[in-house]
Amino acid sequence: MTDHLYYHDSFLYEFDAVVGETLTSDGRSALVLDRTAFYPTSGGQVFDTGWLVTSDDASKLRVAEVTEGDDGTILHLLENPASLEKGTRVHGMIDAGRRRDHMQQHSGQHVLSAAFVRLFDMPTVSFHMGADYCSIDLNTKNLAAEQVEAAEGLANEVVTENRPVAIRFVTQEEARGLGLRKLPPAERDQLRLIEIHDFDLTACGGTHVQGTGQVGAILLRKTEKVRQGWRVEFVCGKRAVATARRDYSTLSEAAGLLSSHLYEVPAQIRKMQEEQRAARKASEQLLAEIAELSAGSLLNATAETAGRRVVVRNFADRDLTFIKLLAQKLTRQNTNAVALLAATSGQPALVFACSAGMPLDMNALMKEVLGKLGGRGGGSKDMAQGGPQQSDKIDAALRELGEQVSGG
Ligand SMILES: [Zn+2]
Repeated sequence: MTDHLYYHDSFLYEFDAVVGETLTSDGRSALVLDRTAFYPTSGGQVFDTGWLVTSDDASKLRVAEVTEGDDGTILHLLENPASLEKGTRVHGMIDAGRRRDHMQQHSGQHVLSAAFVRLFDMPTVSFHMGADYCSIDLNTKNLAAEQVEAAEGLANEVVTENRPVAIRFVTQEEARGLGLRKLPPAERDQLRLIEIHDFDLTACGGTHVQGTGQVGAILLRKTEKVRQGWRVEFVCGKRAVATARRDYSTLSEAAGLLSSHLYEVPAQIRKMQEEQRAARKASEQLLAEIAELSAGSLLNATAETAGRRVVVRNFADRDLTFIKLLAQKLTRQNTNAVALLAATSGQPALVFACSAGMPLDMNALMKEVLGKLGGRGGGSKDMAQGGPQQSDKIDAALRELGEQVSGG
């Protein structure tokens, strides 16, 4: 088993070790050392990366991933194939920036989870650390925005107080009487406890800061209902600053587009939505008026044949909405009107309609025309609509149909 140096000092970024074994894992070279400061993925925290350099400086190996076996053996997976003899001395250097980021996220999670328990008795059931943000799942049925804000407030209060964070090792037996926030399943004899002075005590194998002030800041963002409760996304430390910077840039861009102050953006958007609704309503009203007027002049210009006024028209600059409206107006303004209309602005459309009670079947006529032009459509005896495939043949088809209907 590897000696886990990070158990005792999370700020140890360099160390010396001896190679125990070189093996292959998933096609990659992997080294086992007698001791390591490299943290393997576990408990929600992701692995460290870094370098291993042989003491004669002959090889500098990139550690791309670190995993831990069930027996506590830590595998340093290398970016490039390499094989070092057992007993080779190496100097390890972990990527300090990445480690510091992980310590901020993970320690911030302890503070945040404890805050949710203290304020609302909402235990954390899982923790996820991603490349951009972290999340905890809370065991609760409901989570209100005010609760999120209160937990964020308390968590940041604890950060500001810069409370010491201590590591303790106890037995399972001893742990039972300590009132831990979370007790791991009884597997190991020794438990590693992380204690935030006077605020939180929990068992954890991860890397943490020495004082809560090093977390920097805790920013809560999206919350969503998940199967086992509520998920809360958060970012800590430098990630919180980077995220706030990005949020600010996005918001200022939006404010710039609206020529408004940052905090006025939602009010501006609401105003625009209202204006849009009003404009849509006004244009619908105008369209109805145009249809009404067009219907009147079309009926006037159409001679009555065999007691019917058959209006045949293909509009190149109108759409389905307009010809439907026009068909309604035509057949309501006159008791013997037949409208055979097409619109080819956008998706080609056909609308056939007749005044109520006329001995005609618009649905049948539509099917007949679509049989020639292709496409689908249908409707009732009084009104039918369709989407023809061959729009270049619409004029001819409508003319033919018009003659047929007028001939009575
Ligand atoms: Zn932890």
